[in-house]
Amino acid sequence: MSEVTNTNDLKPSPRNNAWEEARLLARNIGLLVDNSRQITQDPRLSGCRLDTAYIGLPHLKAKAIALGRLLDLWNQGKWTETCPACGEKVYILGAGGGALSGRNGWWGVCGHCQGVLSGSREKFYQLYSEFAGGPAGPSHPGQIDLSDLLTELRAA
Ligand SMILES: [Zn+2]
Repeated sequence: MSEVTNTNDLKPSPRNNAWEEARLLARNIGLLVDNSRQITQDPRLSGCRLDTAYIGLPHLKAKAIALGRLLDLWNQGKWTETCPACGEKVYILGAGGGALSGRNGWWGVCGHCQGVLSGSREKFYQLYSEFAGGPAGPSHPGQIDLSDLLTELRAA
């Protein structure tokens, strides 16, 4: 696998688990998107818990976003950006005060150059509006973790 130097790359944060998960997502985002129909139709898979997928507002508890909800948004052309490094699609994972961004803004991964990216806070309220007044995901998340889900998809 070639290492792409990406000036938008974030520095590893103290929350290394979040960083590792973002890297894992960046490498496998194409697999997830290709199997989005299978994932979103299966509550066990769509409830996959992601440490990096949540939306936060100052002074409020962060809302976790289940994988199935993210896939729905991505398939609707929402919660995406254009990668400044390669011009391909960035899949946004979360917004707010982030383990990956360390400030208000959004963070996500590029499926092409596999960069982990963050962006400005200007987009935050547009992203947040998808969740205002509605649930962010199933009430019983965490049925399967990401590495198990990827193993299942590869075996299918
Ligand atoms: Zn890219």
